Amino acid sequence: MTQDVQNVVDHFNLFRSPEYKEMFADKRKNFEFAHPDEKVEETAEWTKGWEYRKLNFEREALTINPAKACQPLGAVFVAVGFEGTIPFVHGSQGCVAYYRSHFSRHFKEPSSCVSSSMTEDAAVFGGLNNMIDGLANTHSMYKPKMIAVSTTCMAEVIGDDLNGFISTAREKGSVPADFPVPYAHTPAFVGSHITGYDNALKGIVSHFWEGKERTPGDKINFIGGFDGYTVGNLREVKRIFDLMGVNYTILADNSDVWDTPADGEFRMYDGGTTLDDAKAALNAKATISMQQYCTEKTLDYIAKTGQETVAFNHPVGVAATDKFLMELSRITGLPIPDALTKERGRLVDAIADSSAHIHGKKFAIYGDPDLCYGLAGFLMELGAEPTHVLSTNGGKEWEIKMQALFDSSPFGKDCHVYPGKDLWHMRSLLNTEPVDFLIGNTYGKYLERDTGTPLIRIGFPVFDRHHHHRYPVWGYQGTMNTLVWILDKIFDEMDKSTIVPAKTDYSFDIIR
Ligand code: SF4
Repeated sequence: MTQDVQNVVDHFNLFRSPEYKEMFADKRKNFEFAHPDEKVEETAEWTKGWEYRKLNFEREALTINPAKACQPLGAVFVAVGFEGTIPFVHGSQGCVAYYRSHFSRHFKEPSSCVSSSMTEDAAVFGGLNNMIDGLANTHSMYKPKMIAVSTTCMAEVIGDDLNGFISTAREKGSVPADFPVPYAHTPAFVGSHITGYDNALKGIVSHFWEGKERTPGDKINFIGGFDGYTVGNLREVKRIFDLMGVNYTILADNSDVWDTPADGEFRMYDGGTTLDDAKAALNAKATISMQQYCTEKTLDYIAKTGQETVAFNHPVGVAATDKFLMELSRITGLPIPDALTKERGRLVDAIADSSAHIHGKKFAIYGDPDLCYGLAGFLMELGAEPTHVLSTNGGKEWEIKMQALFDSSPFGKDCHVYPGKDLWHMRSLLNTEPVDFLIGNTYGKYLERDTGTPLIRIGFPVFDRHHHHRYPVWGYQGTMNTLVWILDKIFDEMDKSTIVPAKTDYSFDIIR
């Protein structure tokens, strides 16, 4: 059990040593009821059947492994997308440690965010003093150009009034009188990280736009939504806009801050939408959102200023990208350039080359409602069946839209949509109605092990594979990446099932 400084054993092997094995056995015997192995096995088997599935789907008062995070995570995602902006979460420190570690593990980058560090006294008497001190410290220590405030459960349960608190802090000199401190209430017990994204973005644009006169121009605002591929996707979207000659502003552009170079300089802030651009975005001709369910309140607010708003559902695939580009062309009056038409042709060629391997395969998908919609549409385009589509933060409206998508294709005939369900429901689905592949985030690896369904990691967070976030999944080129990730897994599985010499290796083929 003791480590040797000359030969420090990694935990993989350390916990397999005899001392640890003995300790785990004692723990099981003395603290974990020590049910006989056969009984554990028998119960586990029972949970894989239809009887348990029925009980599982009748579950009301308990959520097990929800495929969503809480609102402030989405608020932090938005805040770091503005020039020199530090997210400030009014609430407890532990929550903020979670947001920072979640983003750092996914993007492999430091993620800066501060907390007002509320503790027991603030929970009883309110967090006004924490706000006053927190804003002053943040302003003096981190020299931001903007502090974007959101809240954790704790502040919301108490009912802290952000507007009043920030005004008081301003009066007491925590920040200069004209320093921007947009805010959004982001109660974590309502909605999810996509609701928090929406609330925070609306909070920031309304901070700059409220009471201002709009002078319509020809610029286009673009909003990506909460997206694990934001680094690759926003750069791809900029490339497409530049190819078309679109005059644009990306709102909440966090593609640089989560991809800083290792050159000896720490960048707490990098890139982001400039505050001047954020102000001027009021005058845009239209705002395009790539994720409808991430931006409902924001688009509603923007539409009321007189701009046209258009929302997509995480478009992936030929048809979805066509629709995105044609809408862009309609709004801007600019033609789609030959370079993009050629990329489309290359994607169609790649799909034709590989479709025999994907056609007819059954998939289960889980994730945010827009991502699920985009991926399900792409799979049907490939002739595959998105048999189970589950979104913990998907609601009734999403359910109806997903069903309409299924109804639009013969490949959607046997597909079902599951709004508001969690990954324990997904386990029942995979056990009772098996599919060929599962698409989801890193947490799907437990389902992969438990049900034997191979996992294709697409979504957020992806911790246990590196750098996928640098690749786009939008546009024709992004769709090509998505196609390759799906195909790689299909071929890995095909290789695994044809690997035993003289038994199954008759088709262990070099040429797939
Ligand atoms: S759910 Fe509440 S307590 Fe948990 S991390 Fe989110 S804000 Fe903090």
